[in-house]
Amino acid sequence: MTLATPPLALLLDVDGPIASPESRQVAPGIIDSLIGLLHEEIPVIFNTGRSDSFIAEQVMAPMIDAGIPARAVVHAICEKGAVWFSFTAQGPGAIHLDRELAMPAAFADDVRALVQARYAEHMFFDETKRAMVSVEQQLAVSNSDYLVQQGLFDADALALLARHQLGAARLDHRYPAGGRVDYRVDPTIISTDIESVRLGKDLGASRAVELLAAQGIVPEAWRTVGDSRTDYAMADWLHHQDHRVKHVDVRPADGVPAKPYPVLTSADLGLGADVIHDDAGAAFLQAWLAAVTAD
Ligand SMILES: [Mg+2]
Repeated sequence: MTLATPPLALLLDVDGPIASPESRQVAPGIIDSLIGLLHEEIPVIFNTGRSDSFIAEQVMAPMIDAGIPARAVVHAICEKGAVWFSFTAQGPGAIHLDRELAMPAAFADDVRALVQARYAEHMFFDETKRAMVSVEQQLAVSNSDYLVQQGLFDADALALLARHQLGAARLDHRYPAGGRVDYRVDPTIISTDIESVRLGKDLGASRAVELLAAQGIVPEAWRTVGDSRTDYAMADWLHHQDHRVKHVDVRPADGVPAKPYPVLTSADLGLGADVIHDDAGAAFLQAWLAAVTAD
């Protein structure tokens, strides 16, 4: 196998930097830049908490419509590393699931029933998840109303975990079972994810490196992009493994933490601090495309 050493590889969180946080869709300009980068043989890898079916609909389908180059393979790491698949111009390959990282089916069934019985007005059970249990805000209700209900739901979910003898942590609180905490309840602004503590953006990063290595691709440097604190785990892991990496934060309003690698925001492109979310994502993709095309 010939070794390929592209100057960059991109590891991209989806919700926020790629898909609009409002419409949950991907702007045509972003699709065009991604296709342009693939033409330059820059590896593009998505690293998301979303399901494979969300990525297939919102990212893969518009990329295929726009024309993925003949030999390009795009990797999608979903459910924070528990699920992954690759796609080409021809469509998706096999879906891989690490079963050891999946929530027990009996627990998922109880959460589904809980949502139906008490929370259906404000939330829905994400039927597309294979490993995580995710319960998301209904688009028709206001976020403030949802967040009140979310607190109640999370307490009920923790009680269900205990009933299933599954030790869990939520934020800074631990609810061990038999001394073990194997699961976490992760409240986000629009959902609650219940998942193995082994899932995370760092697991996604390690899968990304493995997937490229299997193709004989060893990038000279990585760019990771995200909109949450948890997305820094991609760059943390790559840096710790001695890969060259810069992280782009497209929503730096929470403050940029001190890191041993460079962290970039839209200000580094000479843009205003109001350029955030997928607008910032679009600007960085364009800048990288311009840089590799100029070489
Ligand atoms: Mg995000």
